Amino acid sequence: MYDFTADLIFHFLIMIMIPFIHKISSYRGDYWKTSAPLFSVLFLALFLTMTFPVEIAGGQFFDLKFIPVFVAYFYIKPLAGFLTIFALISFKGFFSPGDIWIALVNYTIISVLFFYASKFYKKCTFRQKLSIAVVFYLPITITRYVIFLQKDINEDAVYLLMFSAVSIMTLSIIIYLIEMNLVQENMMEKLRNAEKINAISQLAASVAHEIRNPMTTVRGFLQMLKNEKNLTADQKTFIKVSLEELDRTNHIISDFLSLARPETSVASKVSLSGLLLEVADLMRPYGLMTKVEIRTSIFEGIFIMGNPNEIKQLFINLMKNSIEAMPDGGILEVSAFKRNTTADIQIKDEGVGMSKEKLHMLGQPYYSTKTKGTGLGLMISFDIINRLKGKYLIESTQNKGTSFTISLPLYYSPEEIRQPSFQNMSEGQRMNES
Ligand code: ADP
Ligand code: MG
Repeated sequence: MYDFTADLIFHFLIMIMIPFIHKISSYRGDYWKTSAPLFSVLFLALFLTMTFPVEIAGGQFFDLKFIPVFVAYFYIKPLAGFLTIFALISFKGFFSPGDIWIALVNYTIISVLFFYASKFYKKCTFRQKLSIAVVFYLPITITRYVIFLQKDINEDAVYLLMFSAVSIMTLSIIIYLIEMNLVQENMMEKLRNAEKINAISQLAASVAHEIRNPMTTVRGFLQMLKNEKNLTADQKTFIKVSLEELDRTNHIISDFLSLARPETSVASKVSLSGLLLEVADLMRPYGLMTKVEIRTSIFEGIFIMGNPNEIKQLFINLMKNSIEAMPDGGILEVSAFKRNTTADIQIKDEGVGMSKEKLHMLGQPYYSTKTKGTGLGLMISFDIINRLKGKYLIESTQNKGTSFTISLPLYYSPEEIRQPSFQNMSEGQRMNES
């Protein structure tokens, strides 16, 4: 009994190395390079558990080789699992060549099952993952029992039971610890991103502010020059245009500053119809560069509540992306209409579209497929939609095009709110955030 317990503890300790090494190896970048430490510890654990197996009843040896195989399949990738099984069978062939066929058959079956399971494992919840581990471990335990019964050594079955219980516990603890590592890593990454964005917007705001001061000086001198008596007509035009351009730049910087400082934003009643037409006009020259035609079908009299600068920024970002998605030209359709309690806006292009994987990545900071892209446009846009308490739906087909549908709550004057008729929200909620 003493030996048996000591053996179990020894095997538990071998296996518990796995989550610790997992913690210190991170998974970004080159998969094979970053998972090399984990891979090595899996091999080491496999080697140790097979070299010093637990002895139950004379001649019956058991080990925990199932665990490294499980971790390699589900926490590195199926190919790693495959290699681990290959190593396992090689060890087996080396130590006890007689048993190699049983191992070969067993682990071929496990290999196929794990391969299919690894396709959905990542999306499972923690409990589902534990269930998968138990479900896979159960047949192994049952087979062992059957062998025990056949060999008529059932008085030692209690040891087997204990061994199985410890195995499944060890596997559960390892899964738990690895999952905790992943959650922590994920949160750290999010924090880092948030921190980067914060730093960038603060820097940008200060730069914008610094640009304004010299501009004021230049504007002042131009203003003085304009009043000179002996100027030609051409010179007068040049100065006039320069002043206009300076004002325009100033305006853009003001807009930008108000975006960088969301706390100063004030919500007001905004004519969505007017604003969309304005943005479409603003984007037209940009579209013309790549022969993109912007078509609008916008209903009049749509009002929403929000910060006009932010709403403008939202549609500029989306239309800009659509235009950039059509380098060989095409049609960009912007439509807007009222539906019950919401304003529905659709921005539809005939551009390159996106694959499912790409769609999934949208809105993550710095995710961009463009050489000059910042990968910030959509993140900011989604944030604006959230703050407007809106919803969005993105549909995209590769090489066909993309459509962004946004539904924002309509503005109601206080009198209208007293009429109960509009409070049917069900239709407005038909869209889910994707
Ligand atoms: P950026 O435009 O700087 O790349 P965004 O956050 O605006 O950053 O967009 C992120 C990525 O999403 C783009 O690089 C592009 O790959 C993809 N994307 C966004 N909108 C569209 C669209 N309308 N059609 C195709 N791909 C798009
Ligand atoms: Mg963009």
